Amino acid sequence: MSRGIVTLLSLICVCLGIALSRPAHAQTGVAGRELKVCVLRDTGGMNPAELIRHPERFDCTTPQYKMGAGNFWIISEDILQKSRPRAPLNARVASLWQDSLSLHILYADGMMRSTITGPRGVTPLLQLGAIVEHPLPMAKAKIVRLMWHVQGSASVRGILLGARLATDKESARANLVMAAMYAAFGGLCLALICYNLALWGALRHHFQLWYCAMVLGLFAYAFSSSGTLVWVWPEIANNDRLRLNYLTLGLMGGAALMFARAFFEERIFAGWLGRLAVGVACVLAGAGLFVFLTAPIAVRVGDLIFTSVFVALAGVILPTLWRAWRLRSNYLWLFALAWGAPILTSILRTLGNLHVLPWNFWLDNSTVLSMSAEALLSSLAIAYRIRLLSIERDEAITAEEIARRLADADPLTGLLNRRAFLEQAIGREGEQTLHVADLDHFKSVNDTLGHDGGDEVLRVFARMLRASAPASALIARIGGEEFAILTRAGEPVDPDRILAKLRATRMPFDMQVTASIGTCTGPLTTEPEWKKLYRGADKALFQAKSAGRDRVRAAPDREAA
Ligand code: GH3
Ligand code: MG
Ligand code: MG
Repeated sequence: MSRGIVTLLSLICVCLGIALSRPAHAQTGVAGRELKVCVLRDTGGMNPAELIRHPERFDCTTPQYKMGAGNFWIISEDILQKSRPRAPLNARVASLWQDSLSLHILYADGMMRSTITGPRGVTPLLQLGAIVEHPLPMAKAKIVRLMWHVQGSASVRGILLGARLATDKESARANLVMAAMYAAFGGLCLALICYNLALWGALRHHFQLWYCAMVLGLFAYAFSSSGTLVWVWPEIANNDRLRLNYLTLGLMGGAALMFARAFFEERIFAGWLGRLAVGVACVLAGAGLFVFLTAPIAVRVGDLIFTSVFVALAGVILPTLWRAWRLRSNYLWLFALAWGAPILTSILRTLGNLHVLPWNFWLDNSTVLSMSAEALLSSLAIAYRIRLLSIERDEAITAEEIARRLADADPLTGLLNRRAFLEQAIGREGEQTLHVADLDHFKSVNDTLGHDGGDEVLRVFARMLRASAPASALIARIGGEEFAILTRAGEPVDPDRILAKLRATRMPFDMQVTASIGTCTGPLTTEPEWKKLYRGADKALFQAKSAGRDRVRAAPDREAA
């Protein structure tokens, strides 16, 4: 168990290390050179051609999120680089909530070029990873600096984040990395959904459907948040795509929590924790829907509510892990590992949203990565759970088999007892031969050898019968020292040989033990037929006893019996 703790802690440390220490220039998904930017609030009636020539008027120190919502001018540091045909340049920024984003470019020869977004916002400029990319028009002169005009900024995380200058080559490479990542991720989701739906068809476990809902939600969130959505729906406004991100993320979070609730043993979510989990799952989905519906009016409030609800998710997962540990759940460690990454990234993202940590592209996109790790590890947990269930079922079948055999067996000899014998005998098709064997003067055997010695004689006789009859014969101890052998008529059981063998068998204190056998043949499909058959064999046995014992007598025929 302590090894599990160490593994979990090291995993968390590694993730923390990667998330926090990753230098900005090493972010492969975010191509090119980072651009420092400064901000000026748009108070109306400002001239871009004049503003872009006066960077000293911009504020470079106040954090962007503190400036509140509204319209802004954002100016870049000096670039002094040419956008040439051999290396065309692009300006890349992160996609944020805003109505429009225009870009003005100042060249060294004094010329200024501008590009203005239409009613769909930045949708036509969107690259994989939800990066907004403006191609910078080529010119003989160097580019001095860039200036963006952001209108209707919600300024939730900031106004303009992750500004970078990338050549076509760099941005193509970044897009390729993103495409590979999201394609792998999409394939993984589809495979997990198909596989688990097929499993659900066979096993019908409740949690499998929640798992599929969770992965489907994750797939939808990745599809929307990566910007892939605009490939299939180019008319969508970028802000509407951002609203969809909240909706899909909320639904996915709710499904993930319901999956956890359905997956663990009943006892883990008994009482208040179970109710809390369902409540938080509903609130998560509800918060996603709330932001989706209200974002155009109050996205800042919606975002704050949404972030707080995700803190509540951690508030359910942590007590769940604690209870699973206390109640020794079989799935604790797999679950802790599966949820380690999403918990960590949601904590880091929340810290980012509360501006304790700076904005970071990877952290902003970490949900997809950590949730795919969660989905993968959870599928291992499902496989493990199915394995435990099948082991449990096999053990139950074996225990039942043993119990049935014990109930059918005579404890002294291990042969069938009278009840089991009758159960199996009555209803057999075709003529049957019944041999009833009774030990002679067994009372005096007991008197001579004692009761334990008598028992040993019974056991030896039983073993001998088993060895003398064919495997298909039913052999039972039907009374104290009375045994029955039932075979199909004509099957090779020679009662005289049995008696001869008994005579030759060594008994305790070399005592000579003999038996008498009465046989009868007839049908045995019903209870009355059994009675008739037994009466016949018993009569024959009586005759054998009367004739001096240690011999076989057969009932002449059924009618006579
Ligand atoms: P017969 O030759 O006429 O069959 O004489 P018998 O003495 O064998 O017949 P009887 O039915 O009078 O006595 C059967 C004895 O078997 C009585 C009983 O004490 C003994 N017996 C019954 N069950 C057990 C058992 O489980 N263990 C032992 N040691 N003796 C048993
Ligand atoms: Mg007897
Ligand atoms: Mg008897």
